[in-house]
Order: sequence, then C-alpha cells, then structure tokens
Amino acid sequence: MADSACGEVGTAAPVIDRKRCEGKGDCVRVCPYGVFSIRKLEPSERVGLSLIGRLKAWGHGYKQAFVDPELCHACGLCVPACPEKAIKLRPA
Ligand code: SF4
Repeated sequence: MADSACGEVGTAAPVIDRKRCEGKGDCVRVCPYGVFSIRKLEPSERVGLSLIGRLKAWGHGYKQAFVDPELCHACGLCVPACPEKAIKLRPA
C-alpha cells in the first residue's frame, strides 16, 4: 500500500462509465488501495446499455471494472490511467 498517495478516505470515489469500460484492468494495477476489481457484467447489469454498448461489452467478454468506493483515498491515479477514459472521480 502506498501511504504517499495524497487524498483522504471518504472525500471522493471513482465512477465507471459503463458505455466506455472495456475491463482492461489498468485501474486495478494503478490503484494503491485495491478499489477496483474486474468481473463480467451480470445479465441484469447489461439492461441499461445501448445497443452499441451491449455490442461493445460482448466484444470484450462483458468484462468491466467495479469499485469498492469506501476504500478510495481520492489520489486521482486511476483517472488518467484508464485508456478508455471511463473513470471519473466524484466528490463523496
Ligand atoms: S482515486 Fe482512484 S487510484 Fe486513487 S484510491 Fe481512489 S480509486 Fe484508487
């Protein structure tokens, strides 16, 4: 764990854009606090996707990133690390 990461717990948390995420896992690798995990979207979680979103999700095996927001220290490392620009850091 990297205590040098700058933010504070509970001040912000990442939000994943389901239309963009391709589950490549850069967020998992860059986050010092284990906020992210990669798993397949459940069928019920695919309902809100557009046709293009569903096709895109199918193309990468429905894998996407999920977050445990309570672990986030708001360091901001994940936002630029995502190659799909699918992560936004939102104030808690
Ligand atoms: S801002 Fe991103 S990289 Fe930093 S702790 Fe939160 S989820 Fe992890």
